[in-house]
Amino acid sequence: MNDAQPLLVMEGITKTFPGVLALQDASLRVGQGEVHALIGQNGAGKSTLIKILTGAYRRDRGTVRLAGQEVDFHSPQAAQRGGISTIYQEVNLVGFRSVAENVFLGREPRRGLFIDWRAMNAEARRLLERFGVRVDVTRPLASYSVAVQQMVAIARAVSFQSRLVIMDEPTSSLDDREVETLFGVIRQLKGDGVGVVFVSHRLDELYAVCDRVTIMRDGRTVDERAMGDISKLELVAKMLGKEIGEVRREGETAFERTGPPGETLLDARHLRTGPALKDASLNVRAGEIVGLAGLLGSGRSETARAIFGADDLTGGELRVNGAPARFRSPAGAIARGIGFCSEDRKTEGIIPHMTVRENLTLALLPALARSGIVDAARQAEIVDRFIAQLGIKTAGPDQKIRELSGGNQQKVLLARWLCLNPELLILDEPTRGIDVGAKAEIQRLLSELAREGLGVLMISSELEELAEGSNRVVVLREGRTVTELSREELTQDRIMAAMAQDPSPLAVTGAPEGGARG
Ligand code: ADP
Ligand code: MG
Repeated sequence: MNDAQPLLVMEGITKTFPGVLALQDASLRVGQGEVHALIGQNGAGKSTLIKILTGAYRRDRGTVRLAGQEVDFHSPQAAQRGGISTIYQEVNLVGFRSVAENVFLGREPRRGLFIDWRAMNAEARRLLERFGVRVDVTRPLASYSVAVQQMVAIARAVSFQSRLVIMDEPTSSLDDREVETLFGVIRQLKGDGVGVVFVSHRLDELYAVCDRVTIMRDGRTVDERAMGDISKLELVAKMLGKEIGEVRREGETAFERTGPPGETLLDARHLRTGPALKDASLNVRAGEIVGLAGLLGSGRSETARAIFGADDLTGGELRVNGAPARFRSPAGAIARGIGFCSEDRKTEGIIPHMTVRENLTLALLPALARSGIVDAARQAEIVDRFIAQLGIKTAGPDQKIRELSGGNQQKVLLARWLCLNPELLILDEPTRGIDVGAKAEIQRLLSELAREGLGVLMISSELEELAEGSNRVVVLREGRTVTELSREELTQDRIMAAMAQDPSPLAVTGAPEGGARG
C-alpha cells in the first residue's frame, strides 16, 4: 500500500437492517494502484460494505475518505462521478444497444444536439483494444459472450476515469482464457494507479492477482494483510473464525470411506501418472454425481485423464463395473461406457467450423459408419432427438457450432457423449464460461441424467456448484486425494478448508509435504 496517501479509507462502518446488524465497525483500506481482495463467507457483509461505498446504501455510522477527502455518496451515479466504478457479476448494461453505446450510455459524445457516432465508436474501439478485445462496436452488446460484455462494463468503468474499480465476483462466468484477459486488464489498471477491490471465493485467483486482502466475518473486518504474508489455510481459518489446526483437521477427515452399497461403476485406487498425479482414489456409483475439487495444480484434470486412458498409469488400479480395467487410450474407456467432456471446450471440444450435426455425432461416427458410409438417416434422427431432449438452441443441425452460445455449445458436447449411452460421464468444468441461466439449465440436466442412472464425475472450481450439485465431493491436493465429504458434511466452507491446506511457516502442526503453493 502507498502509505503516503491511501486511496480509500473506510473506518468504523456500521449498518443495520431491520433485525440484522449487517456491519459492525467494519473497515477497508485500499492504496493507489493496489489490487485488494475482499473475502468472507456468505453474509459476512462484503456486499453491504461495497454498497455503502458506492452510495447504494447509507451507513449508520463511520467515515469514508477518498484520497484524503471525506465523501458521502448518495447514489451510485454520485460515486461514479467521484471516481468509483462497480462491475457486478450480472452485467448491468443494455443488450440491444451497440457495444459503443453501452460504453458511453448516458454521456454520449455530441456534436451540437446530435450524438457523434463516429467519435463514440472510435473511442469505444480504442478503449476495448487496450484490453485486447477486438469486436465490432456497432453490433448489439447481446450478440457477444458474457466475457466480452464484462470487458465492455470494465471499459465503461475505465472511461469514467475511475480511481477505484470494484469487481464483485467478476470471474464466475469466465473461462480460463477470459480470466487471464481480465487479469491483464486488472494489471493495466494497477499500472495506471487505479485501485481495484476484488471480491472472489477462488483462492487461486486471489493469490494470482491481489496485493492485499481484507477478511470479513459477521459484519466485522477481522484482518488485513499482504497476500504474500498469509497462507491459504490461515486465510480460510480467519474467514471461518476457527483455529488453523481445526481447519486442518477438518480438511483431513479420514479418507478411505466406503460408500453405501450400490452398483459401483468406477473404482479408482491410488492412481498415479506422474508428478502431477501421485495418489488419487475415488469411486462413482450409478445414479450419483461425485464432485472432484482442488486448487489449480491439485491434479483434478490429470485424474480425469488417467481414468479415461488419456494418460498412462504408472501406479494404482482401476475397476469398471467390478472388473479390472487398464485403458491404453480413450477408445478403450469409451468401449467400456465412459465419456469425457474436457475442460477446454474451445480447443479440445468443439470443432468450430463444423456443424452442430457433425459436432454432436463425432464420437458416434465409427458406429454410424460401420461399412464406411455414414448412415445419414440414423444420424439425423439422433441429432434431432438430442437437440430436442437437451433443448439446444440452434437454427438447425446444419448451423456451424461456433455460432451457438457457450451454453448451447456445451450441450452439444454433452450430447456427443450421451448419444453413446455411457454409464459414466466425466465432466471437467461443465459450466465454466457460460452464463448464469445456461449454467442452471446444465446443472438441472445433469441431475436428471443421474436420476436415470448415469454416474457423473464432475470437476469444478465453483464451490457452490460442488456443494449443491454433488452427492459427494472428493478433494485433491498436490496430486493426492485428501478428503471425501459426504452429502451431510458437504458445505462450501468444508470444501475450501480441505483444498486450502498447504505447507506454510504459519501452520501450527503437521510435517511439511513439500511442493509449491497453487
Ligand atoms: P456478503 O456480501 O458478504 O455475502 P452481505 O453484505 O450481502 O454479505 O450481507 C450481510 C448481512 O446483511 C447478511 O446477514 C444479510 O442477510 C444482511 N442483509 C444484506 N442486505 C440486506 C437487506 N437489503 N435487507 C436486510 N438484510 C440485509
Ligand atoms: Mg455478496
